Amino acid sequence: MQIYFDNASTTPLLEPVKQSMIQVIEEFYGNPSSIHRFGRQSKIIIEDARKTIARGLNASTGEIFFTSGATESNNLVLQRAVEDLGVKTIISSPIEHHCILHTLDEIQNSARANVIYLSVDREGHINYNELEDLISNNNSAPVLVSLMHANNEIGTINDIDRISNLCGAKDVYFHCDAAQTVGKLPLELSHGKINFLSGSAHKFFGPKGVGFVYINSDNMIRPMVYGGDQERGMRSGTENLYGIMGMAKAFELAVEEMHERQEKTGELRQYCADRMLNELEDIRINGSKSASLYNILSVSFPPGEKADMLMMNLDILGICASAGSACSSGVENDSHVLEHIGHDAGRKTIRFSFSHFNTKEEVDILLEHLKKLTPVR
Ligand code: PLP
Repeated sequence: MQIYFDNASTTPLLEPVKQSMIQVIEEFYGNPSSIHRFGRQSKIIIEDARKTIARGLNASTGEIFFTSGATESNNLVLQRAVEDLGVKTIISSPIEHHCILHTLDEIQNSARANVIYLSVDREGHINYNELEDLISNNNSAPVLVSLMHANNEIGTINDIDRISNLCGAKDVYFHCDAAQTVGKLPLELSHGKINFLSGSAHKFFGPKGVGFVYINSDNMIRPMVYGGDQERGMRSGTENLYGIMGMAKAFELAVEEMHERQEKTGELRQYCADRMLNELEDIRINGSKSASLYNILSVSFPPGEKADMLMMNLDILGICASAGSACSSGVENDSHVLEHIGHDAGRKTIRFSFSHFNTKEEVDILLEHLKKLTPVR
């Protein structure tokens, strides 16, 4: 039996999503840029998809641009905000995804802007007072705040209303990496306080290699990829027609079923956390107690020989989860996220991330195995 508890890494493609893609593959091969009927049919698919995404985010269609995923969207916003909006200071956090952190490294190393990282507490919350002070003290060049909506390793949710209000009051740009929350939490962009937002389809049961970036119409930036002027010039190259179709279908379903999925997945996460805390010895749940994404459960296990082999043993037993650590040159280190929340490096962390397809029976099987692999109460 295979049990998939790694939905924060990626999700399976939903059957109706797959069917919508197959229909496009079989019936619509025209190049969306061609002016004949085949091209026009393909163009309609893309523009309908744009409407679906825009509607679900309360944005306007002119503000949605299709990309290859959140990595590209994040790169585009960060790089171009510096080049085109005159941003000289970027405020971010040290627990962002690597596609943000490595881009910021590049910007900092090439002396194009100064990057300031907010401190985070042991639950992964950013320091809002520090953010407010930094924003208030800035009287010079434009500032960009880039903060994720929910952390992909520990699930801590940032209060993006609070952040966008702070930014809005001082005319500071706000970019939100919402890869983990698009289709999972309601997002409201019509108030214009979020300037840029990134999403990736494979996180909400859509296909891999396709995503989007929301760019508020007041803050147009130049493209990173030049060519045939697709995506109104913002992202040239023949469109990923099947991917875009699949993303729109997956997003539509995610919005329709959001409440139901949240309830089912959240209950399951709680059930798993309760059983682990009650039945396993000395485990800790990482992340926020008050604001955690409902599908991510990051658990750290007591040190020991058994803990070292935990991930591998679970894999052998058919349970897929993610290590909360990065493996480099054979040495397992805590991830940058765990390091920054002051995680005890001797402990082993595993991220279990659920979906509405998971069941209590699967959690029961996990617990049965864990009880043999780690100390019990
Ligand atoms: N940002 C966050 C928070 C993520 O979790 C991920 C994916 O793991 C990404 C960005 C990158 O998404 P993609 O690999 O689809 O470009």
